[in-house]
Amino acid sequence: MKLLSTGNPKILKGLKQGFNTYILHLAPANLSGYETCPKRTAGCTSACLNTAGRGGMFKKGETTNMIQNARIRKTKMFFEQRQDFMLALKKDIELGIKQSKKLGLIPVFRLNGTSDLAWEKYDMIPGQNVFECFPDIQFYDYTKILGRKVKGIANYHLTFSAADGNDADVYRAIAEGYNVATVFGMKKTEPMPETYSGRTVFNGDDSDLRFLDPKNVVVGLYAKGKAKKDTSGFVKYPTFLMKAA
Ligand code: SF4
Repeated sequence: MKLLSTGNPKILKGLKQGFNTYILHLAPANLSGYETCPKRTAGCTSACLNTAGRGGMFKKGETTNMIQNARIRKTKMFFEQRQDFMLALKKDIELGIKQSKKLGLIPVFRLNGTSDLAWEKYDMIPGQNVFECFPDIQFYDYTKILGRKVKGIANYHLTFSAADGNDADVYRAIAEGYNVATVFGMKKTEPMPETYSGRTVFNGDDSDLRFLDPKNVVVGLYAKGKAKKDTSGFVKYPTFLMKAA
């Protein structure tokens, strides 16, 4: 089974900067019967990027599609056949490295495209996690889990994700030096606010390459998929707040 994908519109922006991102999309939340997002909120669960793009296109009367089914199969494989999954992932990463080098691009990997697993905890081969297996390769992710043991992992970059009801975690994440990704409910034609919660906003939709972001910023993202209709508090509306003030 091929586990990694590449080529979504945001990834294509990274190509111009010389980076080729490969993403692992698992089934988020407990869609597969296994929980992959231990700190998910009601808002992020219903607005999850899992439904953005082709993953959210269903034939009339159907509630699933090939993309969703593949994500569920991969997730079940991760939980039920861990060793096979890890070997397949290792092969896919090796292939991605080869392909990218041929193209003159730098391969980078995001393993939580639609999940929030603590990859540092899982062995890829006995005694080594994925970051130790590929020490010269850059990995990056978003997470809502505080306290992950990643400080000593030089090739793994994490951005903390704000959501509905996780403000206390956001403050702790800031204190721990994380950038915080925040989804804004404005049109892509509207500029993002210059600051939010007292911090400079950096447009995170210009590329997906979070490990290149400046430090101590809010990484602003435009709402996509179901998030465009979110009213849970997951999506923030700075324009509305400014107009209402
Ligand atoms: S937004 Fe993130 S944490 Fe929430 S359900 Fe989706 S993948 Fe999981």
